[in-house]
Amino acid sequence: MAQRLFADPPYPAAAIRGEETLYPVHRIFCVGRNYAEHAKEMGVEVDREAPFYFLKDAQALVPSGAVLPYPCGTSNYHYEMELVVALGAPLFRAGTAEAGKAVFGYACGLDMTRRDLQLEARAKGRPWDLGKNFERSAVLAPILRAAAVAEIGPQRIWLSVDGAIRQEAHLSDLVWRVDELLSHLSHYYHLQPGDLVFTGTPAGVGAVTPGAVIAGGIDGLPDVTLTIGAAE
Ligand code: MN
Repeated sequence: MAQRLFADPPYPAAAIRGEETLYPVHRIFCVGRNYAEHAKEMGVEVDREAPFYFLKDAQALVPSGAVLPYPCGTSNYHYEMELVVALGAPLFRAGTAEAGKAVFGYACGLDMTRRDLQLEARAKGRPWDLGKNFERSAVLAPILRAAAVAEIGPQRIWLSVDGAIRQEAHLSDLVWRVDELLSHLSHYYHLQPGDLVFTGTPAGVGAVTPGAVIAGGIDGLPDVTLTIGAAE
């Protein structure tokens, strides 16, 4: 067998609440504009024809509790608090019932964003990668197994910066439900265990600067936290 030129990059994995076992992460799908009030604050409307997505490299994953340096290339670094869905079974051209059963678990996540670069790309009709898919931009709390979650809907989702609430909504405000998102994605990808879906953020996104302490939660799930360090 041919030898590799250098060591394989480490394969990221997420914690599972209360367990020693880790959840290996394959891909990170992110949904855009999935709360009407957030779409409004971004100056756009929700597209009710179909959801849309962007991706982050699995390598962008960071566990909750990290202290991250303020990232390079931006002067408008934003938090986005999100419900994250972890797949536990393959899905291809699935209906919503099958999609709902393929969920392994749920977690709190932060879709950290270089907003200036994202908006510049958006204005020029260019891809969002520089604004969204950068190193350490996907922060994830431990995953709670789906069996421990009765339903997705009534839970409050919130985020605070230095103790002040900035984002607050309920999961029932999601424009596209979890089973609808997974079913839709499964018509474009062979989804598999290890795939994560960041389901979009509520209104109230904003910038953070060095020293900021971010905390986010969803009723019943382990909280996510992040501290912003000095710029590199
Ligand atoms: Mn987002």
